[in-house]
Amino acid sequence: MDYTAAKATKESSHPVTFPSKAFAARSATSDLGPFTVQRRAPRAQDVQIEILYCGVCHSDLHQVRDEWNAIMPTVYPCVPGHEIVGRVVKVGNAVKKVKEGDIAAVGCLVDSCRTCASCLAGEEQYCENTMTLTYNGEDKVLGGVTYGGYSDSVVVDEAFVLRVPNGLDAAGAAPLLCAGITTYSPLRQWKVGKGQKVGIVGLGGLGHMGLKFAKAFGAHVALFTTSPKKSGADEVIVSTDSAAMQKHAASFHFILDAVSADHDLNAYLQLLKLDGTMTLVGAPPKPREVDSFKLIMKRRRLAGSAIGGIRKTQEMLNFCGEKGITADIELIQIQQINQAYERLLKSDVKYRFVIDMASLR
Ligand code: NAP
Ligand code: ZN
Ligand code: ZN
Repeated sequence: MDYTAAKATKESSHPVTFPSKAFAARSATSDLGPFTVQRRAPRAQDVQIEILYCGVCHSDLHQVRDEWNAIMPTVYPCVPGHEIVGRVVKVGNAVKKVKEGDIAAVGCLVDSCRTCASCLAGEEQYCENTMTLTYNGEDKVLGGVTYGGYSDSVVVDEAFVLRVPNGLDAAGAAPLLCAGITTYSPLRQWKVGKGQKVGIVGLGGLGHMGLKFAKAFGAHVALFTTSPKKSGADEVIVSTDSAAMQKHAASFHFILDAVSADHDLNAYLQLLKLDGTMTLVGAPPKPREVDSFKLIMKRRRLAGSAIGGIRKTQEMLNFCGEKGITADIELIQIQQINQAYERLLKSDVKYRFVIDMASLR
């Protein structure tokens, strides 16, 4: 993707910007390091947020290392980060949703076309036209590429700003903006609840939120993990133990797969009951192999799901506010981000790194 041409024309129509400190990757193989981005001065409908915390999603790592090149090639320098919580420091005169001093949040989207069927249905993540991702998207105002939350500030149209319920810890709430909504949305879509046996595959950032939500919705929850020491579910099944897996054949109503690396889907499909569904949210770059018979024999379904719309994200945040749900986090300084990525690759985090953005100031 080359956004340079767009940049030349668009900057002239909205030239007022201010510098914001950030951390960026300059190439697929370089570490992240200090970088300065230009943010637009808030327009009437915009909210300027001083970023306090930003979660570290495995998608940040996939994107920074250009592992999704076939689908969404990375534009460098790349400033990742889409689990943003901060303090509102300035609002345009048309803004109604938040006011100066509020704690607000931004997730994976900062704009969409707002007119297609998906947008009108509140499913902006499936926008049929020009959805704008928080980073590595096309900046419709300034031109060029969007820069994410590994930064000290961000300016976002209020339609894509979320309210953080009072009482939720701001750092623990940051991962709700991606890991939270990405698991909440499919669990709601497939009506997970009481009387169901539900599996969560992979206890990382997404998986541990999926586990919390599935439990909060009243399901019996089993965790499939490659890390024998991980716990927290009604049952823990070590997925490399085929005898342990076999004991659960044809018994699950729903399985949510939140794994970041290549693994065999068929081993999980056979654990679904008649009409059971397995939904993929994990996004390893390589295409997977599916054994048709695993689906045919019990009318099983294999599905996928992307993050969640703005309305659903606010619903999820409100639900977390009522139930006191936040992520289990390890707070890091921005200068530790490259080590954090290496640890993420070893599944060595319980269960989400969150950057304390004070370390950037
Ligand atoms: P994460 O924190 O790194 O967690 C991934 C987990 O997968 C690990 O903790 C590990 O769990 C398991 N795992 C890792 N390597 C494995 C392997 N080789 N075989 C089997 N299991 C393995 O990552 P995350 O931030 O939760 O993200 C997970 C995936 O979801 C990423 O691919 C990310 O890009 C994607 N994602 C998708 C969406 C969407 O909209 N669909 C949104 C956000 C993220 P155990 O130690 O328990 O085995
Ligand atoms: Zn994410
Ligand atoms: Zn749209």
